Amino acid sequence: MAPTALALPSWQAAVRNGVRDPAELLRLLELAPDALGPAAVTAFPLLVPRGFVARMRRGDPNDPLLRQVWPLAAELERVPGYTADPVREQGLATQGLVRKYHGRALLIASGACPVHCRYCFRREFPYSAQLAARNDWEPALAELAKLDEVREVILSGGDPLSLSNRRLGELLARLADTSIETVRIHTRYPIVVPERVDEGLLLELRASRLRTVVVLHTNHANELDAAVASALAALRAPLTALLNQSVLLRGVNDSADALAALSERLFACGVLPYYLHLLDPVAGAAHFDVAEDEAKRLVGELRARLPGYLVPRLVRETPGQLSKTVVD
Ligand code: SF4
Repeated sequence: MAPTALALPSWQAAVRNGVRDPAELLRLLELAPDALGPAAVTAFPLLVPRGFVARMRRGDPNDPLLRQVWPLAAELERVPGYTADPVREQGLATQGLVRKYHGRALLIASGACPVHCRYCFRREFPYSAQLAARNDWEPALAELAKLDEVREVILSGGDPLSLSNRRLGELLARLADTSIETVRIHTRYPIVVPERVDEGLLLELRASRLRTVVVLHTNHANELDAAVASALAALRAPLTALLNQSVLLRGVNDSADALAALSERLFACGVLPYYLHLLDPVAGAAHFDVAEDEAKRLVGELRARLPGYLVPRLVRETPGQLSKTVVD
């Protein structure tokens, strides 16, 4: 008798069954085939889990969640200043380890993502050449050992929660054997696929001696439905801090109302807003740009409306700088 295939964890199945066909996405959203014009065909194809699609409004081509994932034809326009490596980090990666900031190192833990965000600054990152996961993390850990002053490792990607719980647990255990004190996980998984916060993940987080910070990536309050809220409640318990970063995106969250609603909804889910990023000028994303002056005005309005702890820091990534630039 043929062996029975092991069932995938529900979060892996959710990504595998994600919507990849633009025409299907339009049908699911009850939109006409030409509602958003022809979809751009690029090396960064449409991918969106069905649970995230369920949070989009039917019949609305301007839905803020849809805009984050729909490959508009405008992506194919060449715009001066927009490049494949907008923060000039590709030359900085060695064995999947990127050294950009003092005291911290960024580890490219996985090249996979549960969703393809059209404005992603790593949409053209050469993941196959820069994966720390090779050979049981050995090359990346050897690089890390050369960096005496590093006390915090940032797991990035792709999305580091694309790793299985076993692989993630191995990595956390290896890091716990070094002088690293804090691990930070940059992830969009709990937002787009809340099933990712399963018992196995919580067990691995609880077991680690490292201080653990999760920085989520959420851009609009509508992303945070009841299933996400309950996943975040479970995730918060084993962590030292649960924060969020957003990207300021034209047509998604470019109003004080949208940003204030996001901060308030995050807080209701036990998450503090941390960064609001100005768009990194990655090729294909120019239509998302919000000018710096407008961004400052929006954050000024937030300051007038919200307590300080709900106002994210407006930042820009400047190539070659040892930290993000706070835009005031
Ligand atoms: S989940 Fe993060 S890394 Fe992946 S496409 Fe979206 S922004 Fe980029």
